[in-house]
Amino acid sequence: MQGHKKKTWKKNSIFHVGFCKYCKKELVNTDSFVVFLSVDIKGEREKAHYECMRKADEDKTYENESKFDW
Ligand SMILES: [Zn+2]
Repeated sequence: MQGHKKKTWKKNSIFHVGFCKYCKKELVNTDSFVVFLSVDIKGEREKAHYECMRKADEDKTYENESKFDW
């Protein structure tokens, strides 16, 4: 019986996923990244490094907090 081929997928194979919305650097499948519901001008889902998104979120939170600090 055939069809029981072992997958030759290499665990460490890296492929391009897109570009980070925040730092504009390349995203690869081994990065931790997030995909947004919004799409860019090319009609592709926007993506970002998880770290970049977290930083952006923290910045926003900080801004909001400082607004209340009056
Ligand atoms: Zn990034």
